Amino acid sequence: MKISLREIEASETEFNFQVSPEEMDLFSPEVEFLEVVETRVRVTGSEKQHLLDTSIETKAQCKCSRCLEPVSLPLRADFKLILKSCGPFAKAPETPSEEEDLVLVADSDTSFDITERVRGAIILSLPLKPLCREDCRGLCPHCGANLNLKTCQCGEQKLDPRWSKLKELM
Ligand SMILES: [Zn+2]
Ligand SMILES: [Zn+2]
Repeated sequence: MKISLREIEASETEFNFQVSPEEMDLFSPEVEFLEVVETRVRVTGSEKQHLLDTSIETKAQCKCSRCLEPVSLPLRADFKLILKSCGPFAKAPETPSEEEDLVLVADSDTSFDITERVRGAIILSLPLKPLCREDCRGLCPHCGANLNLKTCQCGEQKLDPRWSKLKELM
């Protein structure tokens, strides 16, 4: 995924990339990436400084962290990046703001590869605890029943003995 610096025009230039997850080396033991990674990069700015506004979309599948049923994950990520030509007399980079990263490019550079950053943004967009639905009830820790589908009796039987004493009194 290379932004050709020579192709950038004065007003606004758009680059679109479609790369398969395999090609991008996207791999996670818990997540299966199902669709091509669509990346759109809008480039604006001046000759000496370009702002890259990147948005990424793809789809993955993983297991619900509570009930282990498959969950489809539409993934969206974006990041901004400033490419600054450092000219013949390179200066120390300015401190980048929190959202916008600053990268210095040499005048002789013809392209800038964003593959690594796109991969990083996708990995960051993965939920830590994916859920099939907000109120997923998970699996019963005793019998393993999927509590979204049925109610088991374990909850009642495994009552804390101290409570059953109390129950007798009631
Ligand atoms: Zn679930
Ligand atoms: Zn149970």
